[in-house]
Amino acid sequence: MINAETIIVGSGPAGAAAAWELKRQGRECLLLDRESFPREKLCAGWITPEVLADLEFAPEDYPHRFLTFDELHVCVKGLPVSMATRQHSVRRYEFDQWLVARSGVPLYEHTVRSVVGDAEGYTIDGAFQCRYIIGAGGTRCPVYRELFRPGAPRSKPLQTVTMELEYPCQWSDPRCHLWFFDKGLRGYSWYVPKADGYLNIGVGGMAERLARNDDHIRRHWQNLLERLLRAGLLSQVPSQTPHGYSYYLWSEGASNVGQANNAGAYLVGDALGLASRDMCEGIGPAVRSGLQAARAIAGDHPYRPDIRPHTLSSRWLGSTLARFLA
Ligand SMILES: Cc1cc2nc3c(=O)[nH]c(=O)nc-3n(C[C@H](O)[C@H](O)[C@H](O)COP(=O)(O)OP(=O)(O)OC[C@H]3O[C@@H](n4cnc5c(N)ncnc54)[C@H](O)[C@@H]3O)c2cc1C
Repeated sequence: MINAETIIVGSGPAGAAAAWELKRQGRECLLLDRESFPREKLCAGWITPEVLADLEFAPEDYPHRFLTFDELHVCVKGLPVSMATRQHSVRRYEFDQWLVARSGVPLYEHTVRSVVGDAEGYTIDGAFQCRYIIGAGGTRCPVYRELFRPGAPRSKPLQTVTMELEYPCQWSDPRCHLWFFDKGLRGYSWYVPKADGYLNIGVGGMAERLARNDDHIRRHWQNLLERLLRAGLLSQVPSQTPHGYSYYLWSEGASNVGQANNAGAYLVGDALGLASRDMCEGIGPAVRSGLQAARAIAGDHPYRPDIRPHTLSSRWLGSTLARFLA
């Protein structure tokens, strides 16, 4: 049996941020992940300045691909708008591995199946034991499934569905483009270049809305490819196959279910469903909730994730987009 005061299930941004903070506070912890790192993660890898501030690093500290956008090229229902901003893109393949290494916390490759709680804490698959457990396993987090789901079912109208491809590509346009509500989609599609010859393209929408309209995200993927070819942003259709993933957007109730009634278990990031309602941004909320759970453990105080529902600083634009999305 392997023991640690805290075991973190899942080593994406939420888990790695929790590990980093616990280690800084001198608390013993370990990370579990079913994947061997570095691993691919479906994600456009767009990060905000708040992520850098929360994790206390500057662009020059980051040793991998990093691109900064001073403007976002947004098209809402065919109407082009340029938004002055400061955002960044990374490759999750590199970023997540870097975060884990930076935390200095050991990572065990292990697929978590069962979590059993008792008065002493939690036992995972009869192989790991801990006083505190943090569920950072994303949408299908086993900690959510085993300890939280019966009392806190997820909200179907807040479920997103996505298709995405990240691949080596000598892109010619270094700008970030977003198309909202194109061809009936309750969502948006994107073109996000990465430094040194990588490109991420994808599309995301609200699962229930698509189903209700007898629509499918694959149709919007085809629309995106056609748009990119027409606009000269792609010279040919990529030969690689896109993949899909689903996650949940922020809800009022999420902050109430973050900590299990039998204190000592915590949910963070996508396991809790915290992505923003306007931009479906999940990395920032994952990092922040990971830090907050770690501080609750170290400070022995209740955990109530304090995450903003919107990414955009314009409350009007944020809530307008959110209203159209979900
Ligand atoms: C197509 C797409 C594009 C996106 N683009 C952006 C973007 O540009 N910017 C942004 O901010 N957000 C984006 N998001 C959302 C963002 O990717 C997530 O919100 C973010 O990754 C959540 O981090 P996390 O640490 O909670 O979970 P994850 O990053 O999903 O990490 C969970 C970890 O848990 C592990 N795990 C799962 N099950 C088990 C198990 N049983 N045992 C052990 N380990 C397990 C997984 O292997 C994984 O490593 C996007 C999402 C998608 C799908």
